[in-house]
Amino acid sequence: MSLTLHQQVLRKIPRVDEILSRPEMVDLLKVYSRNVIVEAIRKGLRQLREDLLRRKDFSQFGDDFFSFERLYPIFQKEVALQIQPRLRQVINATGVVIHTNLGRAPLHPSALKHLMDISKTYSNLEYDIEFGKRGSRYTHVEEILCRLSGAESALVVNNNAGAVLLVLNTLAEGKEVIVSRGELVEIGGAFRIPDVMKRSGASLREVGTTNRTHLNDYQKAIVAQTALLLKVHTSNFRVMGFASEVSLEDLVQLGKQHQLPVVHDLGSGCLIDLTQYGLEREPTVQEMIRTGVDAITFSGDKLLGGPQAGIILGKKKWLDLLKTNPLTRALRIDKLTLAALESTLLLYLDEKKAMEEIPTLRMLSLDTKKLKRRGRRLQKRLEGITNQKITLTLREDVSQVGGGALPLQELPTMVMALGPSDFSVNQLEENLRRGDPPIISRISKEELILDMRTVFDEEVPLLAAGIEKVLTKIAASKEPPA
Ligand SMILES: *Cc1c(COP(=O)(O)O)cnc(C)c1O
Repeated sequence: MSLTLHQQVLRKIPRVDEILSRPEMVDLLKVYSRNVIVEAIRKGLRQLREDLLRRKDFSQFGDDFFSFERLYPIFQKEVALQIQPRLRQVINATGVVIHTNLGRAPLHPSALKHLMDISKTYSNLEYDIEFGKRGSRYTHVEEILCRLSGAESALVVNNNAGAVLLVLNTLAEGKEVIVSRGELVEIGGAFRIPDVMKRSGASLREVGTTNRTHLNDYQKAIVAQTALLLKVHTSNFRVMGFASEVSLEDLVQLGKQHQLPVVHDLGSGCLIDLTQYGLEREPTVQEMIRTGVDAITFSGDKLLGGPQAGIILGKKKWLDLLKTNPLTRALRIDKLTLAALESTLLLYLDEKKAMEEIPTLRMLSLDTKKLKRRGRRLQKRLEGITNQKITLTLREDVSQVGGGALPLQELPTMVMALGPSDFSVNQLEENLRRGDPPIISRISKEELILDMRTVFDEEVPLLAAGIEKVLTKIAASKEPPA
């Protein structure tokens, strides 16, 4: 019996062609393609059907439940969802500056402009303007990289994992690479150094223990099959206490004695000594090059503050070999990245300017006074909604660098803590995350934490509006139905 009632109710669902003939839909068809609109209608109707089947009591559905007027906004929303890209801007209120899941380094405006100029039309990507013949895409950034780092030669590829793969494949395929057990890192996203090494065709010779590795551990492991000594920056963790590692200088010495190249995967790679700005010591790229290391690799989108890229610097004789490896073609950097990378690197010609203007570096060096000012601006905008059952507290906290850089560095920051009293903090977090634009925050105890460090000044109004919208929505859902 209930089945027939079911059927009766389901029969009230309008048909697609019926809906399509409505004047409102005819208007929509002038703007969007038929296939987008039909898909939106189908999705809207599917929702309606599922909604109906989920309910037990069908008597409550009057005809207006099926009315076009009620359904039209659903179709509109479905159209909007289809034409909106899935990859979208979010507000990072986590305080993690180099957040891999949120796209790592935001780019400097000059990098964005260069990227647009180069991609809008044609460029001299692989064309030598001087001589009117074929050129190489790799030459554009080589000179600036060598100048900034002091290296003899440079090569850029798709990302640092690719750089490590390329170096090992070129210099150690079918041979052994010696690496310390204490440096077999997993970077996140399940990128493990040992796995990449295997794919390169090199075999891994682990030496030392998790916490201690000595120079003679490397020494004893050197055999005829050895092709390379590798050092990996333990970028996202530290071994504390009874620990020791071999310095790059000592490893370079050992390599020289045995005529073996020494390679260092630096991970983040920073061109500026950050201790001058009150941050922890992270060896700079220049210092590493000065040790006489054969090659170093690092990411373009970590501390450097540029686009995703793998930067390889070092001795010309090794880099020339890398450049002729067919894998280089498979890992090649694209022109948009190259443009953004070149412009980012040019900013480093003036270190002070780089520190002030490159978004990652600027965010890292923000002091609590500036962050407090940003927090106050947010607070002002939120004060209008104090009738809500929520407390707003602007207070001190700490933020993290992220991205496998300076793992122990605690950056004093200012956060806006939201303490809801008659709904859960999880509900608040989820609604903010699902908002437009999505606001990514963190929860600490019973509060929602919005870290001011990674929120851009121009995002403050959006952030306030997003919070207000969510609070209004939650309040409305609590009101008893009229
Ligand atoms: C981040 C990191 C990588 C990977 O770099 P991607 O640019 O993300 O490919 C490799 N090695 C170390 C030590 C890292 O910190």
